[in-house]
Amino acid sequence: DGDWPRPPKCRIIAVANQKGGVGKTTTSVNLAAALSMHGLRVLVIDLDPQGNASTALAIEHRGDIPDVYQVLVEDRPMAEIIKEVPDMPGLWCAPATIDLAGAEIELVSLVARESRLARAINALDTISFDYIIIDCPPSLGLLTVNALVAADELLIPIQCEYYALEGLGQLLRNVDLVKAHLSPRLNLSTILLTMFDGRTRLASQVAEEVRSHFKDTVISTVIPRSVRVSEAPSYGQSVITYDPGSSGAMAYVDAARELAHRAAPAV
Ligand code: ADP
Ligand code: MG
Repeated sequence: DGDWPRPPKCRIIAVANQKGGVGKTTTSVNLAAALSMHGLRVLVIDLDPQGNASTALAIEHRGDIPDVYQVLVEDRPMAEIIKEVPDMPGLWCAPATIDLAGAEIELVSLVARESRLARAINALDTISFDYIIIDCPPSLGLLTVNALVAADELLIPIQCEYYALEGLGQLLRNVDLVKAHLSPRLNLSTILLTMFDGRTRLASQVAEEVRSHFKDTVISTVIPRSVRVSEAPSYGQSVITYDPGSSGAMAYVDAARELAHRAAPAV
């Protein structure tokens, strides 16, 4: 369906939820892939020391390679660590190595510890990108706070399972704190329901509950549970390139289309 609308200025989106395994990385990588395949220029910043987004995008993230840690802690320019994603024109990745695990503690004693990512992104020529997608670690520590301060928009993936909403209050309180004290422009713009299993009533109940509470913030496309989605990263691919006809791939393209056609929040 051709190219999708180019936002007037770069949309910076933090993908966060302090729970592990809810689909943050899968969502970051696949939305980014879909957007880039529709003519948009996208940078994925891997902010998780596990480096799963880097792996999924086939970007080296072991050993001495320059990474987000050096940007946050050692003031290395972001432009120096960004790599092109192989075979994916318009898609770039700022990789994370395991060094980033130390940043959570090392940042504590640095000046402007909550806004170091924001500063690094501001210094980057953001004209070059239509979207910057930040894949957060599963915690509410300083790395996630840096992502929230750097972002205009927060996207929360919610897994359609029991306990899905537990902990969400804590995340939203952190968002309020960031808005009040550090970055008033942050906006919870998008909720994406992930790993939906249509065979269980529970999944539908969770989806309904999330929609009744968060209304239009919830993207209408639901991401189904699909093995193809979980296989793709081990081939260094998004599911959209790995198996374009699979239900997971089509759902991520639909979700990305919705995201691209929603207006970015007024700043
Ligand atoms: P997070 O980044 O929040 O920890 P991930 O994106 O890594 O979560 O997802 C957790 C696990 O679930 C991974 O093994 C991933 O491949 C798998 N997964 C994510 N989304 C789906 C899906 N729609 N269908 C099947 N497996 C999925
Ligand atoms: Mg992850």
